[in-house]
Amino acid sequence: MSNATIISKTAVELSHSLSEKELSSQEVAQAYLEQIDRVDPQVHAFLHRDDDDFLAQANASDKRRAEGNTLGPLDGIPVAIKDVISVQGQPLTAASKILENYISPYDATVIRKLKDAGAVIGGRLNLDEFAMGSSTENSAYGPTRNPWDFNRVPGGSSGGSSAAVAAREAPLTLGSDTGGSIRQPASLCGVVGVKPTYGMVSRYGLAAFASSLDQIGPFSQTVEDAALLLETISGHDPLDSTSFPTEVPQYSAALRDPLTPCTLGLPKEFFGEGIDDEVRKAIDQTIEFYRSLGHKIVEISLPTTDLAVPVYYVIATAEASSNLARYDGIRYTSRSEQSENAINVYAKSRGEGFGEEVKRRCILGAYGLSSGYYDAYYLKAQKTRTLIREDFSRVFKEVDVILTPTAPTPAFKFGEKSNDPISMYLSDIFTISTNLAGLPALSVPCGFTNSGLPIGMQLIGQAFEESSLLSIAHAYDREHRFGCQSPNI
Ligand code: GLN
Repeated sequence: MSNATIISKTAVELSHSLSEKELSSQEVAQAYLEQIDRVDPQVHAFLHRDDDDFLAQANASDKRRAEGNTLGPLDGIPVAIKDVISVQGQPLTAASKILENYISPYDATVIRKLKDAGAVIGGRLNLDEFAMGSSTENSAYGPTRNPWDFNRVPGGSSGGSSAAVAAREAPLTLGSDTGGSIRQPASLCGVVGVKPTYGMVSRYGLAAFASSLDQIGPFSQTVEDAALLLETISGHDPLDSTSFPTEVPQYSAALRDPLTPCTLGLPKEFFGEGIDDEVRKAIDQTIEFYRSLGHKIVEISLPTTDLAVPVYYVIATAEASSNLARYDGIRYTSRSEQSENAINVYAKSRGEGFGEEVKRRCILGAYGLSSGYYDAYYLKAQKTRTLIREDFSRVFKEVDVILTPTAPTPAFKFGEKSNDPISMYLSDIFTISTNLAGLPALSVPCGFTNSGLPIGMQLIGQAFEESSLLSIAHAYDREHRFGCQSPNI
């Protein structure tokens, strides 16, 4: 089998070829390494690779298979990892200079689960520094390019994770989503990305940005692949106190069940001004598709939609300012050469180690939490968060899922928004409210613009209803498979 054929396959197809012995995991790993060598000098999805370790894991998988001890469908399948998730013995930079020399001493729970399933853990993927951003332009190690157009951003913050799947540098990747960082880059790169319900996937071993919002989730070419990866990494974890004690349904098996007719809600606040015409048209076609399958489409209202971005930027920055306090020039991090006393160690190390956006957020967050302003900002934002949550609860009495565009526009050009933080913040206008409400949501590729840029649709589900969310998404995806189209690079 040629390398081009191998890397074009979905994870489910690769898994099938491995179990049919048409391929070895060694060959799969080699094919991806060759593709990374070929395209990554341009794409720059990877911050770090350990090829020897990667091939050794593939080898171990082949050995298990030869002995009849295969661990499951992901055994031998590569999964590359956003550089905020700990893999024992590997660097973790969070795309920040401050963690330049940090090596993870332990595995995140999601990594342990993947290793237990036999997955071959790949390299470290680029992102906006500490996952703050929507374009990867905030990476201290240079941006990732969108494989569909190298002049454009891949989205962010998990831009390396989305670009790696789009550029066929990995069949599966993991990212994290605090306000859209899985779904928005998935949309801009034409791949599937899933943000699970808050509490469904352990955050143990994830470098924290905003702990009440962060969730780890999968990227893939198809919904079927995402279901497989999601069921592997989900589940209760005593090491994460916010992890929810619930059984993990077999999402991929549930996809094979016939889909009963359901009701899809279109929030009128999401379909107003500011949506690109071609995005609007593609979304209209997905709505028609669901209608043609016999599902009911209704207009709904989420009146608090406008409040989501401001509320998010109070809560997320407040949590970030306290989470990032640990990077003090003493633990974890690099220390300024000019730190001659204790105060200087903190100030200089943080001043030199953090980029502009991270500093902006720490300062904003500390301000919002400070006495005198706490009630006006943080407390008010928390109360408004409750209203946003209640909006969704009310709507979910009527509908099974909510359908929206994932992002208002296709991939934008480098520099287009980077000098204007507010315009960058607004690129997540459709994704942020789901994190505030803790709900699961995903992005599925639903077409291309005339100039060949991918477009994504977002489906939002009820808490812990990943199974029906994925099934509804799969009903569209298996007929269209836009994520299986690859850029000409
Ligand atoms: N773009 C948003 C931000 O900059 C969301 C980031 C994320 O989900 N990690 O905060």
